[in-house]
Amino acid sequence: MCSTGGPMGENLDVKKLKTKKYRCLDCGNEFKGLGRKIICPSCQSPNVEEI
Ligand SMILES: [Zn+2]
Repeated sequence: MCSTGGPMGENLDVKKLKTKKYRCLDCGNEFKGLGRKIICPSCQSPNVEEI
């Protein structure tokens, strides 16, 4: 009854991606974005600034 193996996968640090913090200028929502085209996940506005 050895419970080794299994599809555990590697819990690598997913949070260490190159995300930046942005703030939506329309609704004030703060979120993390990745890539060039950043839009607010709350109101879908492209009117965001990096913070
Ligand atoms: Zn917004």
